[in-house]
Amino acid sequence: MVVSNKALSISPSSTLAIDAKAKKMRSEGIDIIGFGAGEPDFDTPDHIKKAAIDAINDGFTKYTPASGTLELKQAICRKFKKDNGLDYNPSNIVISNGAKHSLVNAFQAICNPGDEVIIPTPAWVSYPEMVKLADGVPVYIHCTEEEGFKFTLEKLEKAITDKTRAIVINSPSNPTGMIYSEEELRAIADLAVSKGIYVVSDEIYEKLIYDGYKHVSIASFNDKIKDLTIVVNGVSKSYAMTGWRIGYTASNEQIAKIMSNVQSHATSNPNSIAQKAALAALEGPQEIIDEMAAEFVKRRDYMVERINSINGISCIKPNGAFYVMMNISKLIGKEIDGMKITGSDSFADALLEKANVALVPGSGFGTDIHVRLSYATSMANIEEGLNRIEKFLSK
Ligand code: PLP
Repeated sequence: MVVSNKALSISPSSTLAIDAKAKKMRSEGIDIIGFGAGEPDFDTPDHIKKAAIDAINDGFTKYTPASGTLELKQAICRKFKKDNGLDYNPSNIVISNGAKHSLVNAFQAICNPGDEVIIPTPAWVSYPEMVKLADGVPVYIHCTEEEGFKFTLEKLEKAITDKTRAIVINSPSNPTGMIYSEEELRAIADLAVSKGIYVVSDEIYEKLIYDGYKHVSIASFNDKIKDLTIVVNGVSKSYAMTGWRIGYTASNEQIAKIMSNVQSHATSNPNSIAQKAALAALEGPQEIIDEMAAEFVKRRDYMVERINSINGISCIKPNGAFYVMMNISKLIGKEIDGMKITGSDSFADALLEKANVALVPGSGFGTDIHVRLSYATSMANIEEGLNRIEKFLSK
């Protein structure tokens, strides 16, 4: 049957594929330790849940404006002012069904067919597919572990052509946990302004940042870069609200209007009840963030130390998000427990099958010598999972 070539070109999410396999094994009664989670293992705070329950009881259950309620947009503007020193008006804000949806809207708004979007890798699996959905062309700059998984300005300059429409910045990063410093961001901003290219700045892990580092939004340096930047953020990761599906963008008014129009035909407003919950999250007590961050640091430290103490694997210390990229290059070409390791996919498969540990192969992120481990799981799970990895590697 004839189907859409564009839709056919979209790959399934590799992060979800390994998860499906692990779930199937679990349903067969196998005890799997999962390092695949892309979400905090904390519950949504009670005051946020209560705001949603109140919204239902108060009948706040109808359509809202397609790009979100004015009160939530105002709260988002206050957040940008307080956290990022950025001045926006509600007309700059579009609220969507998760930051993922915000990103889809952003690429729809800025890409014409054949426009290039620069994606530094290792990168979150969805960016290239979102660009393709918008008829854009993903262009990759590969960043090595030795470079701290960050691109240099020279690499960026080389990747820019007259077809470049935008660059994606994701700091702190999924999957590497790396953070661009203010100095690095200023240099990227200057280049983007001089070339007139947009910056899609995915700041969803903004609050999960450790070791005294401070998040800086690239949009905050001057009006020129602010005008070219679409800042993407949301409540999923900061407030343990992944299932509620609220994300948002801040951009210039023209782009906000285009995204709002696109969204008005695709999905209409984000869930009205979840918007009330997001309002409570942004305006209510912020302790959950510090509590989560403190717990994540303990787990990260343990995980990094353990990985670096096991023969054949290593990792650098990430400063944000909740992921560690484990280097498996020394294992490639070896046979472990009867399983041939040819790259990150076969390593992930072997580990799942022989050690009952699920993690995400790096291939989907653009690096086949790494696998991603999430530490958004209990310390007990982390200890047991790493014990299993150690035992598997000693075979
Ligand atoms: N951006 C990055 C880098 C992510 O890792 C994720 C979620 O995994 C998202 C955006 C999407 O978040 P949301 O749940 O708000 O759609």
